[in-house]
Amino acid sequence: MPREAAQPHPIAEPARAGFAAGWAASGGPMTERVRAACSAAVQTAIEHADDARILEVTVDLGRLEGMWARLFARREKQQADHMRAVAAAWRPLIDREAVAGAVDAVRLHAGLAEARRPLGELAAQALAAARALLRALADLPGWTALRTAVRTAIAAGRAEGMVNAVAIAAERLGARGVRLEWDIAFQHAYRSLERLDELWAETDTWLARMLDGAAGDLGRALAAAAEDGAPREEMIDAALDVLASDDVAAMAFTVDWAMTTAADDGALTLYQSEGVQRVDVITAGDGRVCETCIGYEAGSPWSSLDVPRLPTHPVCRCCYAADVSLSHFASWFTPT
Ligand SMILES: [Zn+2]
Repeated sequence: MPREAAQPHPIAEPARAGFAAGWAASGGPMTERVRAACSAAVQTAIEHADDARILEVTVDLGRLEGMWARLFARREKQQADHMRAVAAAWRPLIDREAVAGAVDAVRLHAGLAEARRPLGELAAQALAAARALLRALADLPGWTALRTAVRTAIAAGRAEGMVNAVAIAAERLGARGVRLEWDIAFQHAYRSLERLDELWAETDTWLARMLDGAAGDLGRALAAAAEDGAPREEMIDAALDVLASDDVAAMAFTVDWAMTTAADDGALTLYQSEGVQRVDVITAGDGRVCETCIGYEAGSPWSSLDVPRLPTHPVCRCCYAADVSLSHFASWFTPT
């Protein structure tokens, strides 16, 4: 006997349309997460079909999900753009001759020590050669361009964090009749950071981490190649693979981490200047959330004085959220 197709609940279609309208108003992209949230919202609407406000709630949910999708999409694009800019400034600093010098230093040591070499000594020697090579980058004329690219990335992260904080606040307030102009807000926030000297200090801290990471990667690659008795040219190529490939791991890792930290700093600084008392931690729910972030979310709200620092792990996309009056940000909004 053929199974009768289940009739959809009469509220299912209006709920789906309501969620879609809310999502469209947010200007956010369509993502897997938005789709899943839509199904969940329709299910909730069916369960609460007798609630007179349920469709209104569904529209709000659509707008909220769209806002988050937009926020994450913007951050991802910014990180990719700045990663490219930093890479473009980094690559010209890597000189084949200089790399060959580091390779020769490691080969000389490996050859001299032969079999009586204590375990780990070659690794230490390779790390020292890698560090010396990378330390010398700061004396090259191109170093300033790299430093500027990293500072620009951090400033962009900060500005975006400020915009995100206001976007989240507008959703929490259920602001009606106005729309956040993300790009205008970003330009405004970015300009406010132009003269912030502390960004240079942060830049140098992140650059030092980037060099440390690259030296570790290079040291390991050189030690492994020397251990294998690789010929000189092969060792040089292996070193260039680490330092000058399309995506230098230490660089990508550092730019991501620095920009996420900057975004979280930007949000917290904005809360401080707006006198915010309570701050929530919201996990990104993207499958990369760690126990620490889950704990911070569960412990929310935090007093703004002792809110734990984000990010807590690499590629952490968890966010702060707080109620902020929009009165100081009127120029970031347009009427709808
Ligand atoms: Zn996290």
